[in-house]
Amino acid sequence: MNIFVVNSGSSSLKYQLFRWPDEQPLCSGLVERIGSAQAEITHQVGPAEQRHALAVPSHEAGLRAVVRLLTDGPGALLPDPAAVDVVGHRVVHGGEFFGGPALIDAAVKAEIKELFGLAPLHNPANYQGIEVAERLFPGARQVAVFDTAFHQTLPEYAFRYALPTALYAEQRIRKYGFHGTSHQYVAGQAAAHLGNPDARLITIHLGNGCSMAAVRGGRSLDTSMGFSPLAGLVMGTRSGDLDPSVLLHLLGPLGYTMEQVSTLLNKESGMLGLAGSNDLRDVGRALAAGDARAALALDIYAYRIRQYIGAYAAVLNGLDALVFTAGVGENDALVRARACQNLEFFGLELDAARNEARAPGLRDISHPAARVRILVIPTNEELEIARQCAAL
Ligand code: ADP
Repeated sequence: MNIFVVNSGSSSLKYQLFRWPDEQPLCSGLVERIGSAQAEITHQVGPAEQRHALAVPSHEAGLRAVVRLLTDGPGALLPDPAAVDVVGHRVVHGGEFFGGPALIDAAVKAEIKELFGLAPLHNPANYQGIEVAERLFPGARQVAVFDTAFHQTLPEYAFRYALPTALYAEQRIRKYGFHGTSHQYVAGQAAAHLGNPDARLITIHLGNGCSMAAVRGGRSLDTSMGFSPLAGLVMGTRSGDLDPSVLLHLLGPLGYTMEQVSTLLNKESGMLGLAGSNDLRDVGRALAAGDARAALALDIYAYRIRQYIGAYAAVLNGLDALVFTAGVGENDALVRARACQNLEFFGLELDAARNEARAPGLRDISHPAARVRILVIPTNEELEIARQCAAL
């Protein structure tokens, strides 16, 4: 079976092709700046990378160009588009409709569309990717894998806000949680590594967006993002947790518009707002150069993670492993060290040399004698999507 995984964003499209059942990635790539006359396709087969600059007016044109790369010329991987058996789509919001992957039909599409209101930045672009793939791969089965699905196992006392019940019952205002595909993937890897399917895990996804999850027996029990991906940890450009009155103060006395508040919280806050850069590599360099703003920003970032570790150790009534993943979690030893500081009470002790060492794949960076493992596990959302498609 050939499984083609698509992650369709507002102006970009990421893809990866897998051969099944050996989980072999055949190629991967990215179409950037869709809608401009200067779009770029980066297409990677094994170690070889090709770059193509061309006009890509639409998602359809972008995916058409990718299909040509897959099926035309000497490097072709497939004889024709009909060789794709399944297309797996990343869809950000599955609301309360989807607790797992779904075979896409008219009803599933209608439900994804109904969720545009809850995920206006993401679901429309994901939906567009589905419609384009249906046209370009008419013989394939299309599957949707939702970022929220893994967190549908949260108990009601964890996902409800203390707002009047009608706002939940009628408007579906509750915690949904996001990054579920990544949390699910690394939690599965960790449980397999520990040889304990019932492991109590705290998974920490630190990329541009950041979130944590409390996972036991492969089920998400709580997570730090909420109604939207704005809640929880300090992120690259998002504020994370905030007293809601701050918004009222901005909108009232300070005269901000809704639009300005949204831009402020989503695009100008987090590490960018605190330290002047959303990239933790810049913040690390500034810190090394003695920048006090960078030092404080990192303290705030790590303190918030430590608070959630404490909270989730309580949710899980103990802890078997802490898992770091995504761009920052996999690469930034300083962030990991700060996030694990002063947590000996919970049995967490980092091994400084193992934390600093770089190696591919899963790594245990905890002190050998510590009660709780600390793991670094590279996430692979595309592979998790392909696995869920295959299982379905
Ligand atoms: P996304 O959330 O966009 O999928 P990633 O998981 O790729 O993001 O993470 C991107 C972030 O990872 C970057 O903004 C950068 O701050 C961070 N990052 C990547 N490499 C490193 C590194 N070597 N050291 C520290 N941070 C890194």
